[in-house]
Formats: sequence, C-alpha cells, structure tokens
Amino acid sequence: MELKDRVALVTGASRGIGRAVAVELARAGARVAVNYAASEEAAREVVKAIEELGGQAIPVKFDVSDPEEVSRGIKEVEEALGGIEILVNNAGITRDGLLARMKEEDWERVLSVNLRGAFLVTRAVLPGMMKRRWGRIVNISSVVAFSGNPGQTNYAASKAGLVGFSRSLALEVARRGITVNVVAPGFIETDMTAALPEKAREALLSRVPMGRAGTPEEVAHAVVFLASEKASYITGTVLHVNGGLW
Ligand code: NAP
Repeated sequence: MELKDRVALVTGASRGIGRAVAVELARAGARVAVNYAASEEAAREVVKAIEELGGQAIPVKFDVSDPEEVSRGIKEVEEALGGIEILVNNAGITRDGLLARMKEEDWERVLSVNLRGAFLVTRAVLPGMMKRRWGRIVNISSVVAFSGNPGQTNYAASKAGLVGFSRSLALEVARRGITVNVVAPGFIETDMTAALPEKAREALLSRVPMGRAGTPEEVAHAVVFLASEKASYITGTVLHVNGGLW
C-alpha cells in the first residue's frame, strides 16, 4: 500500500470531503487522525468506517482557528499515532452575503477558520516534518478562488489566500523533503452545497461542462495522489478537480 504506516491528520474530517479524504488515505495504508469541531458522533462513525476497512484511526476534537486547541490536538495525535507526516488542511466554512451588507463577524470567522486555521495547524505540524525531512501538506482551496463568486468575497479571499500561502511555504520547505500543494474542488455534493437554495444549485450545475456535481471521493483521490511518493517532484502547484468548470 502506497501510504503504509504514514501518519495523517485531516482537519474537518467528520463530514463531506474531509471524511472521504480520511477514508481514502486509510485505504492507502495511512493511520489517520480524524479532526472535527462539533460533530463528535460523525467523527466516531468515520473512525469506525476506517476500522472496518482494516485501518487505524482516532477522532480528535479541536477548532482549527484556536491556537491553544490546535497545539493540544496535535500533541494528542502525536502521542496516539506518532509524528504527523501528511497534513490535509480541509476544515472550511461559508458565511455568504453580498459585500455591501457583510458583517465584520462573517468576514472574520470565515478568514479565521479557512485561512488562519491552515496557518495554525501547519505551524504546529511543520517542525516534526522538518526534523524527519519528509512531509506532505495538501490545502483544500476552491474553484471560487480563481473564478470569483458573487456573495462569497470572504470565502473566495480565504481560498485565494490558501494558494499564496501554499506557494510561499512550498518554497520555504522544498529542501526539507516537504511538498505543499493545493487541491481546488469545484461543485462537490456535501452538506456545504446541500445548503444552497435549489435555484442556485441548478444554476451552478448548468455551468459545469461535465453536467454533474463531483463526489467527495473524486476530490479525495487527488489528495491521496499528492500525499503519495508518486507526487514526490510536485510542489507549490494547484490541482483542479471541477469537471471542467474552470
Ligand atoms: P462540510 O461538509 O460543510 O464539512 C466541513 C467540515 O469542516 C466538517 O467536518 C466540520 O466539522 C469541519 N469544520 C468546520 N469548522 C471547523 C473548525 N473551526 N475546526 C475544525 N473543523 C471544522 O464541507 P465540505 O463541503 O466537505 O468542504 C470541505 C472543504 O472543501 C472546505 O474547506 C470547503 O471550503 C472546500 N470546498 C468544498 C466545495 C464543495 O462544493 N463542497 C468546493 C470547493 C471547496 P464539524 O462537523 O465538527 O462541524
């Protein structure tokens, strides 16, 4: 198995894309920490699904935007599974609204979870990767970082921020055997997109050249590839998974 015995942490892995990433990393042989913020039952269910595949996983609760929770959570993972070698910064939220009426708290919260969260978790995990001279970091951005989307200035800014963050960090750690890449999903069937009004969903879908939404697994396969040895010479890049949307 490609990732046999590698230790992986996936943030926001209780549901949606993060869940699929955790399961597919485990299927490839990794031991996986399933992070969540609130959905304890769902996270335990992901761990159970991984165990049923013959894999190893633990649930770990922390809010990626809270530095103290992050350092406690990383410590918990490293004590239970060993040093983290693969980090997938997937946790993300939306607080949509047109800019002219956007509340500061909606701007701050989205930037805080989506961008500051990736910074905090990466900073906590990086020293171990640098010491071991091997690491894989995959950050989950979005097609809207590239295309823009009305009503999502906060979200698109956070997701575009992740691209600049990743490119810069890739340069900082390239000589340490650590790669940093971005996966930018298009319209994927999860709770996040299920929350969209039917009309907005239909309008979005009509713009996808493949004529359908993607599945969380289709995103997960791209992440597993970038986390693998096979992607050893790929760093600082963006892999789009969007059915041709952008
Ligand atoms: P989702 O179904 O809404 O799941 C979000 C996950 O993030 C949950 O596991 C949630 O945990 C976790 N989370 C939220 N806030 C957190 C925090 N502060 N700390 C730790 N975990 C937190 O979302 P999704 O659709 O799978 O999206 C996953 C990622 O892909 C996000 O970064 C999203 O922006 C990106 N993305 C999604 C799409 C799409 O079409 N769905 C497209 C492009 C990009 P709890 O269950 O505990 O709340």
